[in-house]
Amino acid sequence: MEIPLNRQSPSIALVAPTKTGLALSQLIRAGLPDASLWTKASESLSTPVPELQAYREGLSEAISILWPQVDNIIFVLTVGAVVRAIAPFLKDKATDPGIVAVNEAGTQVVSVCGGHIGGADALARQVAAILGVEPVITSASAARGLPGIDVLGEPFGWRRGSGDWTAVASAIAQAHPIEVIQTCGSSLWQRQLPEVHPFVWDSSGKEQETIARIWISEREFEPVEQPTIGWHPRSLWVGIGCERGVSIETLERGIRASLQKHNLAWEAIAGLASIALKRDETALLALAERYEWPLQFYETEILASQAVPNPSEAVNREVNTPSVAEAAALAAAETKALVVEKQILRGEDGKACTVAIALAKTEYSSRCGQLNLVGIGPGSLAQITPAARAALTQSDVVIGYQLYVDLVRTLLPSAQIVEASPITQEVQRAQRAIALANRGLTVAVISSGDCGIYGMAGLILEALARDGWDGKIPHVEVFPGVTALQAVAAKVGAPLMHDFCAISLSNLLTPWPVIKKRLEAAATADFVVALYNPRSRTRLEGIHIARQIFLQHRSPSTPVAIAKSVYRPDESIQVTTLVEWNVETADMLTTIAIGNSTSFVRGDLIITPRGYVLTEPNANSGHINRADAELNL
Ligand code: SAH
Repeated sequence: MEIPLNRQSPSIALVAPTKTGLALSQLIRAGLPDASLWTKASESLSTPVPELQAYREGLSEAISILWPQVDNIIFVLTVGAVVRAIAPFLKDKATDPGIVAVNEAGTQVVSVCGGHIGGADALARQVAAILGVEPVITSASAARGLPGIDVLGEPFGWRRGSGDWTAVASAIAQAHPIEVIQTCGSSLWQRQLPEVHPFVWDSSGKEQETIARIWISEREFEPVEQPTIGWHPRSLWVGIGCERGVSIETLERGIRASLQKHNLAWEAIAGLASIALKRDETALLALAERYEWPLQFYETEILASQAVPNPSEAVNREVNTPSVAEAAALAAAETKALVVEKQILRGEDGKACTVAIALAKTEYSSRCGQLNLVGIGPGSLAQITPAARAALTQSDVVIGYQLYVDLVRTLLPSAQIVEASPITQEVQRAQRAIALANRGLTVAVISSGDCGIYGMAGLILEALARDGWDGKIPHVEVFPGVTALQAVAAKVGAPLMHDFCAISLSNLLTPWPVIKKRLEAAATADFVVALYNPRSRTRLEGIHIARQIFLQHRSPSTPVAIAKSVYRPDESIQVTTLVEWNVETADMLTTIAIGNSTSFVRGDLIITPRGYVLTEPNANSGHINRADAELNL
């Protein structure tokens, strides 16, 4: 049975009591398109706002409607007014919505409460990214670059167990040493810890006296003196065999008894597994549905091939495999050893079930993975789109080439998992990103410029398609960025005002005859041309040939821009002509723009005419015919 995976989109309400606030919240909603928008009914609006909801009385009327319904509320209002308004509704940080306040000018975004479990810290980062400002996040863990202890396992789909969450959080806030015991689940969260952190993994030597514990395990923790919190990665696969018509109570009691006997946690259950014959076993289906567990069914051959500790001749005679529960648990967990061997429980109605449990190496996650393919622009943080910024801050993991990761490092939440790799490892990066997304994580893959122009977007989509991707899971979103040719064009005026094309001179992935053919075609057809990857240490010849081809078809005085590291600290830009162009100055951080037959230079700028008829100054200035105006403006 398929359990639908959860897309991680919290329901968000934007509440803006004033007209100025309403204008700002529309800007915020552009980046959070699913958010509902609320204002006071008396506000008269000159232009109608789509899907605006109104409350009549005070703010508390809106809050009382929204509080039980939404995951987050963003108020465009002073923090003081927000605090007064929400005070009567606050109950418990595990259930209250996360609250964010934004000032009317849009220059301050404050995570007010529900920072971790409520998601307010993450949302404040996202809203701040949309507005291009710094969020105000006051939680102790954020300040010290630590993951919030109460959200630690969320990216991996872990479930919270029992524990004294407040005591452990306050021990962390006071920087006391904390013992970490982790027996299963991803250890990715440990990678991004700052140099100074309070976690102690091996306390057996007791060099450091720890005062609290974080318990990450498939088992329940034994109560000890130290305050402890439990996280349970969903790693246990429960194999089930049963008689036809068994009751759901018998199944549930069988599972609970097996777990208890071995001190295993209910929250650590990944899902159920059984024999294909049981696809229509009502109680099995109902139990999986009740707890939103995935249910795996296996054909007899697969079950019969598992080496189990307690095979049964009787079972073999009946269903052609000597084991159902044990074999199904092993198959689902993809392992060879059981943590609980076959247990038999008979219900009051006389119908029995068997239960066996195996521990998977990788935890199951009910989250639907997401790949954010993000173009970060040519270099400067100012050139990244707000949507791309927001996508970065929202992702659990950021993957990219070291240089690009370093460019955006200051935008990333300090506890975010970042994986940087050398330049040549594009394929490995794509595979890693897909593997993590398949485990339910939200993964941002960054490219410089636009990620769909000689970037990672195509590679990732291609790899997904090759692996039989259904186009839905993981969910893919592409965030455009300012590509090198736009950046270069902006620096040298308006060279791209007429038809243009981009050609990469790198023959690593494209055979040189193909590149040459495209250069000739572009030169002949009078395109303005941007040359990417013009010259590397080993590819010295191509750019000479490119210049020769253009000289054959264009005037020697055709403008050429040589733009290196545009929007980066070592930017250099030179405008020259085809005949004077010294191709040796180009490297892999350079883009070349070559004008068309009408392009000309004024000062340091290249201008390619669009074709408007410009009349003399004062004589009905700048008039163009009406059809053109409609076409172009
Ligand atoms: N996805 C990128 C292109 C990657 S291919 C984009 O859309 O811009 C790498 C090539 O891009 C480099 O060899 C260079 O030609 C060009 N490039 C990337 N960033 C640049 C920058 N800041 N200045 C000049 N050229 C750049």
